Amino acid sequence: MSVLTVPSTYPISSAATRQLQRPLFGHVIDGETVASLDGGTMSVIDPASGEQIATAASGTAADVERAVRSAREAFDDGRWRFLAPIEQERRLRRLASLLAEHADELADLDVIDSGLLRMYAGFIVQFAVDGVEYYAGWPTKLHGSVPAVPNEFIVRQVREPVGVVGSVIPWNGPTAGAAFGIFPLCAGNSVVLKPAEQTPMSAVVVAELALEAGIPPGVLNVVQGTGESVGAAVVSHPQVDVISFTGSVETGRRIQAAAAARVKRVCLELGGKSPSIIFPDADLDTAAATVMMGVWGASGQVCTCNTRVLVHESVYDDLLDRVVDGSRGLHIGGGFEPDVDMGPVVSAAQLERIQRYVQIGRDEGAELVLGGERHGDRGYFHQPTIFASVRNDMRIAQEEIFGPVMSVLTFSSEDEAYRIANDVEYGLAAGVWTNDLNIANRASRALRVGTVWINTYQMVYPSVSYGGVKQSGQGRNLGEASLDDFTQLKSVWTKVA
Ligand code: ADP
Repeated sequence: MSVLTVPSTYPISSAATRQLQRPLFGHVIDGETVASLDGGTMSVIDPASGEQIATAASGTAADVERAVRSAREAFDDGRWRFLAPIEQERRLRRLASLLAEHADELADLDVIDSGLLRMYAGFIVQFAVDGVEYYAGWPTKLHGSVPAVPNEFIVRQVREPVGVVGSVIPWNGPTAGAAFGIFPLCAGNSVVLKPAEQTPMSAVVVAELALEAGIPPGVLNVVQGTGESVGAAVVSHPQVDVISFTGSVETGRRIQAAAAARVKRVCLELGGKSPSIIFPDADLDTAAATVMMGVWGASGQVCTCNTRVLVHESVYDDLLDRVVDGSRGLHIGGGFEPDVDMGPVVSAAQLERIQRYVQIGRDEGAELVLGGERHGDRGYFHQPTIFASVRNDMRIAQEEIFGPVMSVLTFSSEDEAYRIANDVEYGLAAGVWTNDLNIANRASRALRVGTVWINTYQMVYPSVSYGGVKQSGQGRNLGEASLDDFTQLKSVWTKVA
């Protein structure tokens, strides 16, 4: 297999350069980094150039079988779950430290893999480190309860791991996706992690660092490949007890249906069409800057992007001018270029999807006030695109595009704002811009979403639960609430003689 060369213009760390010289980003099964049983591979494409930059293994159900068997054995013999909780904490903390030591390397790989801006990738990797550090604190704090029962009995409700967790993760923020996928380790579970086929690199590094940190072989396995073959095999495998999935609604539905055949628990973090509601008394400068950051920051490829901007009619023109003027001069380029404001989207398929939606917006009669075209002819770049005078029944206001396309709508009363905000299938997040405490409180009650941000946007913290309602999913990532997704209660009755 030939080794591909990294463009010399990429100012990446020597550690990332070394990673890119691997002939293969393989699976990690039973503590070994290995090729597919049938030798299958797939190309890793740099979205900034459209060129292949590395090669990854592409597995089949046979590789999933190996990984699940390894995870099951590790769970059943207790090599991880029966370690003293304080020792589990120590090793998970060691993993967090190793991730921190390798942060530059992981962020560099994430830029090349997914097209994130380097600064943004750095934040996301730091968030992954913080998340592992947070969950490292849980093993000694998990506890059950002793409920009140008739006097002749004693009942203990014990909180136990579920077993083997299948974590199917997306491509936007690959290191963070891998970190989210391994949080269930803190409750003694084993994990089979399935990275997105677009971004296979950092999960391998994370799994190898987990071994170095003392997470025993077999406890964390990674299987690379497509959703249709590897993802589907993980989801339907009888020895995988719970599925933790982050991705699109369509795939989430398919996964939930497949999991139903085995009455398997699923935790789904799906898409969004999140509104930012801007009231007349808002600080418009901050609102406009945050709204732009929310959509352009990762080229619109974050589930919580505020792609529906709802503006009160009295400040509509003012806000729209600020956002259009502020977005017009954005510097578009690869994630490693200096002073770049917006990078590429992840793949040719994603670029085509965005172009399709821009055409839908035009056909629906929305007013295209900025962008609307592919940027350049190399890599997968799209101009920041703003549609004004959008009606909420238009598809560009209802459907998740996952690209740098903002729809601006207007409202005339508070009730109308909440009605429009909620009149969508999704319910992931919402932003509210006001200095009126009563409006802020009413909005936080009225909005049917998993997270409300008031005068801020896209804040996340490891201790704060994160997830959606309606078609945006079920279960929670982050915080204490997520423990319910990968633990289960066992009731133990004892008769007092
Ligand atoms: P996208 O369409 O942007 O690639 P998806 O939601 O399809 O987003 O992908 C998210 C993750 O789900 C990826 O790891 C992908 O490989 C996986 N996936 C896709 N289809 C399936 C499936 N049928 N079963 C299990 N996993 C899948």
